[in-house]
Amino acid sequence: MTTATRGTGQQGGQQGGPQAVLTPLSFSGEGSWAYDPAPERVRPTIRGRYGLFIGGEFVDPAGGKWFASVNPATDETICEVGEAGEADVDRAVKAARDALPGWRAMPAKERGKLLYRVARRLQERARELAVLETMDGGKPIRESRDVDIPLAAAHFFYHAGWADKLRFAFAGRTPEPVGVCGQIIPWNFPLLMAAWKVAPALACGNTVVLKPAETTPLTALVLGEICREVGIPAGVVNIVTGAGATGAAIVNHPGIDKIAFTGSTDVGKLIARSVAGTKKKLTLELGGKSPNIIFEDASIDQAIEGIIQGIYFNQGHVCCAGSRLFVQESVLPEVVAKLEHRLTSLRVGDPLDKNTDVGAINSKAQLATIEKYLDAGRGEGARLHEVNGSALPERGNWCRPCFFTGVQPSHRIAREEIFGPVLAVMSFRTPDEAITRANNTPYGLAAGVWTDKGSKIFEIASRLKAGVVWLNTYNKFDPASPFGGFKESGFGREGGMHGLRAYVRV
Ligand code: ADP
Repeated sequence: MTTATRGTGQQGGQQGGPQAVLTPLSFSGEGSWAYDPAPERVRPTIRGRYGLFIGGEFVDPAGGKWFASVNPATDETICEVGEAGEADVDRAVKAARDALPGWRAMPAKERGKLLYRVARRLQERARELAVLETMDGGKPIRESRDVDIPLAAAHFFYHAGWADKLRFAFAGRTPEPVGVCGQIIPWNFPLLMAAWKVAPALACGNTVVLKPAETTPLTALVLGEICREVGIPAGVVNIVTGAGATGAAIVNHPGIDKIAFTGSTDVGKLIARSVAGTKKKLTLELGGKSPNIIFEDASIDQAIEGIIQGIYFNQGHVCCAGSRLFVQESVLPEVVAKLEHRLTSLRVGDPLDKNTDVGAINSKAQLATIEKYLDAGRGEGARLHEVNGSALPERGNWCRPCFFTGVQPSHRIAREEIFGPVLAVMSFRTPDEAITRANNTPYGLAAGVWTDKGSKIFEIASRLKAGVVWLNTYNKFDPASPFGGFKESGFGREGGMHGLRAYVRV
């Protein structure tokens, strides 16, 4: 049941200019927005321990070490997972190598059928996977249910279709698989990132050793279970869990033919150095500090919704998050007022509640990073707008959505990736200035443009140095559309026909 009457609180803070007539919403007090809890009731069966998925079996780590996977919204241990050392990685690479000839030789349409079955099984187990994703990573169930899991299935469907049509993707040439692929993924979209990596690799006839992030290993392990269930031959997909040392063991293993990494720019650079001079192929999808540009002719309400979706709905845990907002000067007061107004209505809290907009921060370490940037922003003289009044749970890692105004391009909050629900708002006067400032970053992953003028859309989009440019929308994904960055955001593309290129030799 929903009671949605507006409170009569104080006018939200503004940056001068015309007074916007908005009545802020609040969570407490008479007449505020109040939603009854709407908890997701499905509770998947979770084993006490998950071994490493190697050669089609769950096996104990050779070193006998296990680590806890913790629910960031409650601080409770969900289960234990194996910590893979060098010997385990070696075993996984051998299993992948042994499985390679059979998998390559399998008629491509049979490989396609198996990928299609994975997609179907992901759909059948979608509810369970969504809950697991939310428990393990802290993201709202609405996101894992409506975005992560459906998109993961969509990637397997899409690549199932390519498996027997690769010669059309590389017309006139003969695509051959690269071999054994080492794939290392982060914690922000655990199953989706696994699907982005595993589906194209398998479609092209490769075998894989995948390492999920140490804070979010569960759905990848279920993916291993699903691969076995649907009949993907043992050793084609291997999943090793562990932290940076396990990742490094994959990167440095001589039996790996290709490394695909998604994660921080620092680790990406480290990996690029390790791989340099070897025969390993490499693709990197790294950080971002993506700009969203609002022109004065834009539909401001629509833009605000896009901004909210682009930075807050996933706690800002999105590498392409629109974390720098450039607003044309004439509409800055209106945008700031509307942003404050909308932020007050975002619900922060239990990620398993279907009404939750902003869930838990993935780990204590990430929360500390975000807090460090909040301090840096204040210290450098920007103004922090903390208008969200959600009552936060006692345990877990939380950060209310907020934004800074009075931000200078030199401020750390305008230059460095925060990976949290924190937005840096800046202004501009002319389109040229907007483009110059938006491109003034070492990154180049994504960008958003908000304007009603079609001609402006194409002009600006063509001059932004970003792998993806969204126009009057943000954070929209499709398996047919390649994703990836420029400059320090990495190289190589994932998804679409371009994404296949990384997994074949032609
Ligand atoms: P984030 O800041 O998103 O956690 P990281 O780059 O630290 O990004 O982590 C992304 C993935 O890279 C994780 O699976 C992590 O365990 C792995 N990783 C971390 N350090 C290394 C390393 N030195 N070599 C290989 N993989 C690593």
